[in-house]
Amino acid sequence: MFKHFFSETPLATQMLNVMLPPLCLRCDAVVAETESLCQSCWPKMQYLSAPQCACCGLPFDIPMEETALCGDCLRAQPHFTAARSVLLYNQESRDLVLGFKHGDQTHLAPAFAEWMLRVLTNDMKKIDAIVPIPLHRRRLFERRYNQAGLIAAIMAKKMNVPYQPEILRRWRATPSQGHKSRNEREKNVAGAFDISHKKADIKGRRYLLVDDVLTTGATANECARILKNAGAEAIYVITLARTRSVAT
Ligand SMILES: [Zn+2]
Ligand SMILES: [Zn+2]
Repeated sequence: MFKHFFSETPLATQMLNVMLPPLCLRCDAVVAETESLCQSCWPKMQYLSAPQCACCGLPFDIPMEETALCGDCLRAQPHFTAARSVLLYNQESRDLVLGFKHGDQTHLAPAFAEWMLRVLTNDMKKIDAIVPIPLHRRRLFERRYNQAGLIAAIMAKKMNVPYQPEILRRWRATPSQGHKSRNEREKNVAGAFDISHKKADIKGRRYLLVDDVLTTGATANECARILKNAGAEAIYVITLARTRSVAT
């Protein structure tokens, strides 16, 4: 499902593949197709699909109706309309995600963008612009790139919609969300973002927010909240991976 077909690759890439065989995105084993996983890594990934929460995309263990919501979304409906992710964030996908996030593995961006495009719902394709979740400028300076921005720019190009990274600004570098409870995470991100555009430019528009991992969804939810407050009609969220359960 997430593979490129050889026939789709340009001639120059095909010739390059003969000289430099493509490597698995995760373990560097030689693979037949560019930007794919090897036969050993492929089955280890847990790809997310229905049945899942109609809102946050949490996978359900039992068959459920398409409109069913998970307990968290029933308790407190997120500000975003829907969120989807490609992979479950687990032991196996962790190194792929972290290598991209902290390890300068920026060459992974086109493959990740391709995977994320394939899990978009129909509504997520009807958007006015794509916006990456921003990094605080200190973190951007340390890391030199916003991993979400790399993916978002490629997705925007392929979807032929504007890429608008400047809309959201991160004022506060929020401490790691790692071991915080849901409540703490919400407090942690409150007021961390604001909007650079005039409300008139945002009113009635539909945005797709892009990030690498969805954990509690507190960050995406806060960005969705301020965009909604500015008059945006709908906010969707797409991430490469998500955790199975959120900290409560
Ligand atoms: Zn591999
Ligand atoms: Zn949910």
